[in-house]
Amino acid sequence: MNNGRILVVEDEKKIADIVKAYLEKDGFSVTEAPTGQQAVSALKNRFDLIILDLMLPDMDGEDICRTIRKDSDIPIIMLTAKSEEEERIKGLGIGADDYMVKPFSPRELAARVKALLRRVKGVRQSVSFNKGDLVIDSSRFEVKKDGSPVVFTPTEFKLLQCLAERPEQVFSRLQLVNIILGYDFEGYDRTIDAHIKNIRHKIEEDPRNPSYIKTVYGMGYRFIGRPDED
Ligand code: CA
Repeated sequence: MNNGRILVVEDEKKIADIVKAYLEKDGFSVTEAPTGQQAVSALKNRFDLIILDLMLPDMDGEDICRTIRKDSDIPIIMLTAKSEEEERIKGLGIGADDYMVKPFSPRELAARVKALLRRVKGVRQSVSFNKGDLVIDSSRFEVKKDGSPVVFTPTEFKLLQCLAERPEQVFSRLQLVNIILGYDFEGYDRTIDAHIKNIRHKIEEDPRNPSYIKTVYGMGYRFIGRPDED
C-alpha cells in the first residue's frame, strides 16, 4: 500500500521518527531530512507532501518554504515550536498550506496530512494523459482529445473517468456496470462493450490498437494512458 510519498524535514530525531512511524502506519512512504541541505537535495525526488520544521540548524524552514514555492505547489505543513512562530507563519504568508504547533499529536498530524492531500486532489480535478493528448476535466464533465472538446454522454464520461482514475487496473464488465449504474442488469456485457466502442471512437487514433482503453480478454477493460506529471 502506498498512499503517497512524504518528506519530513525535522532536526529533532525523536519527533521525526514518531511522525514517520505514524505516517507509515497509514500507508505513506516517508523520507527523513534532518537538515535544510538534505531537504533541498531530497527535493530532487518527487514527493506528494512536505512536513517542514520552521527551525533547522543550518537553514530557516521559512526560506526553504519560499524556495519550494518558487516552482512548486506541493502541499506543505509547517511545524513550529512556539505560538509566536504561529503568528509568524500566519503573518508572513510564506506559502505553507497548514501548520502545527509543538508539542502536537502525531495522530492529528497524520489526519491533517490526509485532509490536505484530499483537498489538493479535489482542486486538481483536471487530469491529462499521454503528454496532453487526452484531458479529463471532472469538474466540468469535459473531455479534450488533442486540444479539442469531445462530446461525451454521462455514461461514457463515468466509464472513462472510472477507468482513468486507476490506470492499469483491470475492471470486469460487471464491475463497470455496477460503478456507472449502481446495479446490474441483463445483457450488461453488450451494453458496456457498446459504450467502450463509442469512447474509443472519440479518443483513440486507432480503435483497433488503443492507446487508452485496452480489452483484457476474458476479464474486462483497463486504462493504459500514461498520466502526465504536473
Ligand atoms: Ca527544529
